[in-house]
Amino acid sequence: MIYTCPVCGKPLETAGNSYKCSDGHSFDKARSGYVNLLLSKHIGKTIHGDNKLMVRARREFLEKGYYQPLRDALCKAVKENFSGSVLLDAGCGEGYYTSAVSGTLGTAAEVYGIDISKIAAEFAAKRHDGVNYAAGSVFHIPVADASCDMLITLFSPYCGEEFVRVLRNGGVMIMAIPSTDHLWELKQKIYDTPYKNEVKPYELEGFSFIGKEHIRYMMELASQEDIQQLFSMTPYYYRTGQEQQKRLEAIDRLNVTADFELLIYKNNSN
Ligand SMILES: [Zn+2]
Repeated sequence: MIYTCPVCGKPLETAGNSYKCSDGHSFDKARSGYVNLLLSKHIGKTIHGDNKLMVRARREFLEKGYYQPLRDALCKAVKENFSGSVLLDAGCGEGYYTSAVSGTLGTAAEVYGIDISKIAAEFAAKRHDGVNYAAGSVFHIPVADASCDMLITLFSPYCGEEFVRVLRNGGVMIMAIPSTDHLWELKQKIYDTPYKNEVKPYELEGFSFIGKEHIRYMMELASQEDIQQLFSMTPYYYRTGQEQQKRLEAIDRLNVTADFELLIYKNNSN
């Protein structure tokens, strides 16, 4: 158990269906099985993808397998680079990747997933996949210092200081980011002057960059529903006007590029 009390920072112990610290702070598991370790002061002003419809759309889209090549590549990279016993998925969403990674590592590994969205944590917990899911912020991760052997982060906010803190010395971080051409054809449909994604320099403070993998393939979206679900998972969804939305509603088939990079780092700062 690597959880720490979000109020006082002391270790949490399991006590029946709750987690308790020695100062008497107590956190109950929800019926679905996740624990809420999120303090209201740690919730930012804008939480995206937080409502039930959005989480469900994401779940349905992912279950159709469009991102499976990425998931497979992630599982392979995790397996090749994992040593120790604890893995944390920081910003796990509804657990699509967490669950697969946990399956890959088997029962010897203790896997944790945290997400700022309680609804996402609830969806994840209902997978009953043996992963410990919690609602929590990646900017105040409720786990002990140096308690993780590996941290994975997929399309989630980056908080270097926290990631360095929770990883043990020599621990590995695997990060998935969209590469330059990701969803290019979708952007062409929406915008008059679409831009390619900008990929930032790989170097990150506190980490040594040890390698990367490029995953690129075509997705054949076969329905308006699939297109809308994919669109709702993108950052563009939140900044697109009605006119652009209408353009998208007019198409029911789209071949679109999936373009990802998996970046692998080692924690070298402890
Ligand atoms: Zn406490």
